[in-house]
Amino acid sequence: MFENLSERLGGVFDRLTKQGALSEEDVKTALREVRVALLEADVSLPVAREFIKKVQSKATGSAVTKSITPGQQVVKIVHDALIDTLRGEGEPGDLKIDNPPAAILMVGLQGSGKTTTTGKLAKRLAGREGKKVLMASLDIYRPAAMEQLAILGAQVGVDTLPIVAGETAVQIAKRAKQQATLGGYDVYMLDTAGRLQIDETLMQEVEDVRDAVEPRETLLVVDGLTGQVAVEVAEEFDGKIGISGVVLTRMDGDGRGGAALSMRAVTGKPIKFVGSGEKMDALETFEPERIAGRILGMGDIVALVEKAQETLEAEQAERMMRRLQKGMFNMNDLRSQLEQMQKMGGMQGLMGMMPGMAKMKGKIDQAGLDDSLLKRQIALINSMTKKERANPALLQASRKKRIAAGAGLEVSDLNKLLKQHRQMSDMMKKIGKKGGLGALKGMLG
Ligand code: GDP
Repeated sequence: MFENLSERLGGVFDRLTKQGALSEEDVKTALREVRVALLEADVSLPVAREFIKKVQSKATGSAVTKSITPGQQVVKIVHDALIDTLRGEGEPGDLKIDNPPAAILMVGLQGSGKTTTTGKLAKRLAGREGKKVLMASLDIYRPAAMEQLAILGAQVGVDTLPIVAGETAVQIAKRAKQQATLGGYDVYMLDTAGRLQIDETLMQEVEDVRDAVEPRETLLVVDGLTGQVAVEVAEEFDGKIGISGVVLTRMDGDGRGGAALSMRAVTGKPIKFVGSGEKMDALETFEPERIAGRILGMGDIVALVEKAQETLEAEQAERMMRRLQKGMFNMNDLRSQLEQMQKMGGMQGLMGMMPGMAKMKGKIDQAGLDDSLLKRQIALINSMTKKERANPALLQASRKKRIAAGAGLEVSDLNKLLKQHRQMSDMMKKIGKKGGLGALKGMLG
């Protein structure tokens, strides 16, 4: 169902990026589609509504009108709002496990990946963080589940509490606590029993265990593929047990992202980890950026900006290339260069988009190479006759005066432009000789 969301948003943004300018009405239209898409993708109504409201208030106003490409700006705003909604407080993956032994209570429905995740997390804590970890299965209803945890423990090199038949879940939990204390463990993880559906007995049992050990973390494991159901499960568990975070499993393959969005918005609890496979190392800290990218289904925004400009640049570069090969670079060429820069948000915008050029921005400001300069330069070129534009060598004193006056500027401004043209022309000749479209494209960014 979330493919829908990706496709739909992709469709909307495709249309936006093809437009030169974006009106407030366009923003509204786009967001209406985003909203429908979110709803169709099983994001709950209040979540979708809240999300749209947030985006709308950011999108209307200067940010959109001043943007390099308005469509891109909306994409970016939607993207940022997604990240905003998804991000919890603190670092993702942080667990409160100081003050040993700290209990981590693992809860969730049967089949959600709870036992697997317990093993994965134990491995991570023991390996990467160098903690001494003990695991215990509280699933007294399924001996196979207890065996499964013991096997995982052996596999990842983490101790498991010996299985004693006939104990209640609370008794096992207490025994785990005792062993963790005596054995000098940093963490003990309790893998509670799951059911196919939430029921009172299950909840009561988890509550009793909770009260017995007072866990530092109560992590809800939910299947990321179950969409709205996962959100309901999260609400239920949080209401009854009180969870400290969520682990979304099965986010490998065609994992969605919509569940993450709803879950985070509805419970307000952070998503701490994401399960990305069956193997014991397939557990990652939750990264809002990645999920946002997945929800949008369009990779990162930078790549998108580049893609949108590729066509334009390729055409322009090819035309330019042909002229360069003929040894030509006149005022018309310069004007189209300047106009393109203007479209892309002026020098600052252009530099901002080029990797590694951010630090050049200050210098550009100092040199006064801002948007108004582009405007003045274009005005000067517009004030030339067709012949003058094609052949700048014609520009002697009297013509210069006329052109400057026509643009409402000084002759010195025109001289600067001519100097710039000469420099660019020299540079272009060199590139034209050494050659290749590649070199030119590289220069255009
Ligand atoms: P439990 O009943 O909640 O304890 O679920 P299990 O831990 O036994 O997992 C059920 C199945 O889901 C097993 O086959 C796991 O290998 C699989 N599984 C768990 N987490 C993931 C995951 O992140 N990705 C994938 N692809 N499979 C997973």
